[in-house]
Amino acid sequence: MTTRTDVVVIGGGQAGLAAGYHLRRKKLDFVILDAQGTPGGAWQHTWDSLHLFSPAAFSSLPGRPMPARPGPEYPGAGHVVEYLSDYEQRYDLPVHRPVRVRRVRRDGDRLRVETDTGVWSARAVVSATGTWWRPFLPAVPGRNAFPGRNAFAGRQLHTTGYRRPADFAGQRVVVVGGGNSGAQIAADLTTHDDIDLTWATQRPPRFLADDIDGRALFDAATARRRALDEGRTDTGGVASLGDIVAVPPVREARDAGLLKASPMFTRLTAEGIEWADGTRAAADAVIWCTGFRPALSHLAPLGLRGPRGHALTHGTRAVEEPRLHLLGYGDWTGPASATLIGVGRPARDAAGEIAELLGR
Ligand code: FAD
Repeated sequence: MTTRTDVVVIGGGQAGLAAGYHLRRKKLDFVILDAQGTPGGAWQHTWDSLHLFSPAAFSSLPGRPMPARPGPEYPGAGHVVEYLSDYEQRYDLPVHRPVRVRRVRRDGDRLRVETDTGVWSARAVVSATGTWWRPFLPAVPGRNAFPGRNAFAGRQLHTTGYRRPADFAGQRVVVVGGGNSGAQIAADLTTHDDIDLTWATQRPPRFLADDIDGRALFDAATARRRALDEGRTDTGGVASLGDIVAVPPVREARDAGLLKASPMFTRLTAEGIEWADGTRAAADAVIWCTGFRPALSHLAPLGLRGPRGHALTHGTRAVEEPRLHLLGYGDWTGPASATLIGVGRPARDAAGEIAELLGR
């Protein structure tokens, strides 16, 4: 059976909810289809100690400020999950879950959204499926895996599989990656004295100044977008400030001298890692904190082309399929659109463009 609606939003994380908020304001008929069984998107799956890099007041979706937490700490992931659950209830957003979208196809003047529970026919689609679901593991040119990855006898996991240091008690752990996830997970592991940590980064870690948090990052991303839109010189945006936000646990571990980075090793061996000069270190586990890619496989039938394997967009609208909007994946869908505070504006623009397309 096929159910008709104006708009299908794919994904019920923060980006999908922000889209829902603005579609409702435009009085459009829509559904949000979410593969998770419970609200909160990726925040339900992060490690236990993860805290936002901004205060609650700077982590809000449109309409409803995130309630502040007592105490000096920025909110934890659990607080975000509660906030998102409350948000979808408060605005009575029509989230259907668990529903996984398998494919989106063109179907005359409509788009056909095929799911594991049935088919939806829509005049427009917002894809807001995030990146958490597509972990990226590095390879080297000419190979499809990092050298020795299949030889290593220990445990290998990605950021998405890490939960808490106690899971590695008494072990020799290698954390790979000089971004926020790598620094935070490495710092988390330093809280256990019996963990022998190696933190491997491709270049020396670039910490942002200690007083820079998500607020400044949002401003930097917005200023960059404005400069590019106005034809001025690229300001460099967030990347120009550094790679690692010095959140309190990272700062503490760094200042205590516990967060020292080693150069990236060149291969895994059965017992551990090996650097270019032949030096080796034994390891029980390797945690690859090497990033994510947009989860877009459901859009494959549309044959959209663009830089770095994702669709070319104008704002959030796919250039090759104007009935499709992409929301939340990164700066290519709006400045800081992959953040809580940043997704509201592109969501509003997407809903506005969809309303126009539908003649409302
Ligand atoms: P998600 O939260 O991933 O939600 C997407 C939803 O779509 C999920 O429920 C998923 O199951 C569903 N889905 C996926 N594929 C399908 C499909 N085919 N069919 C149906 N449903 C599907 N941002 C901040 O603002 N502040 C921070 O401090 C911050 N810290 C971060 C720390 C880490 C470690 C990471 C990884 C990100 C952080 N971010 C932060 C960035 C961002 O806010 C989160 O990544 C956020 O989860 C992105 O929300 P989203 O809605 O785009 O995606």
